[in-house]
Amino acid sequence: MLIDLHAHSAVSDGTQSPTDLVAAAANAGVDVLALSDHDTTQGLAEAEEAAGRLGVHVVPAIEVSTCWRDCDVHLLAYWPDTQDEALQQMLGTIRRGRVMRIPQMLAGLAEAGIEISEDDVRRAAGSADSLGRPHVADALVAAGVVFSREQAFAALIGEGMPGHVRKPAPALLRAIATVADAGAVPVLAHPWGRGSRAALDEAALDELSAGGLAGLEVDHGDHDEDDREKLRAIARDLGLVATGGSDYHGAGKAGVALGMNSTSPQAYEALRVRRGRVA
Ligand code: AMP
Ligand code: ZN
Ligand code: FE
Ligand code: FE
Repeated sequence: MLIDLHAHSAVSDGTQSPTDLVAAAANAGVDVLALSDHDTTQGLAEAEEAAGRLGVHVVPAIEVSTCWRDCDVHLLAYWPDTQDEALQQMLGTIRRGRVMRIPQMLAGLAEAGIEISEDDVRRAAGSADSLGRPHVADALVAAGVVFSREQAFAALIGEGMPGHVRKPAPALLRAIATVADAGAVPVLAHPWGRGSRAALDEAALDELSAGGLAGLEVDHGDHDEDDREKLRAIARDLGLVATGGSDYHGAGKAGVALGMNSTSPQAYEALRVRRGRVA
């Protein structure tokens, strides 16, 4: 049983349609795949429809952008009731914040002498429901400014770079409560990835666990073996489920294949029994 609980489609900043993503999962031998687009549930119906045809089990999910101790933290939410009003209101607010920061990012780039228009970004984003920095990166690639998303982040739109603007995001504890109220199972995505390690020490994880957190995404490409061992021990101590996922973004994230990090059947079952409501 290969269970990959973290993947993105072009509905956010992946590069394949939900249908193509599910087909790719079938090809990769993935049995269970969570579609966890950033701050949107728009791709879930298509993915679930494709799942039936392609013999992959799709877990509906969201990767919610949140804020904790002034740090960007991502929260995976499995099996949300997509009709839940408070949930959709929170996601809508985050997506509006994503749109509103684009002109600010472009202004920062213009000051650095790089002229990209909002239309360029829109074109790069295609039909994405959730607009992100990777789409600005794609527009920079299309304009010949950089060769790849990686290079765009490293030189222009990563933290501290001229085109970087933080997006507004709900507080992590509020996001945990909102997704849990919508029947979803909240799991911290890559807790020690990209700069959030200090903000998510064991005391913080204990506090989040008391706030309703169900699991930690231990097996993720941002974590080395040492991090994984420590996070697994913390999860055990706090009664949190240790999960794993590839964080696949199609052609948008080099070196990442579907199923390259995964969740054990035992952990998957432990999440499943925490489901609150059938969507
Ligand atoms: P945003 O949420 O719009 O600020 O953009 C964050 C997204 O950019 C995440 O989904 C990451 O997968 C992606 N990302 C972050 N750093 C990089 C990088 N160095 N190269 C490519 N994608 C990145
Ligand atoms: Zn992403
Ligand atoms: Fe993430
Ligand atoms: Fe992700």
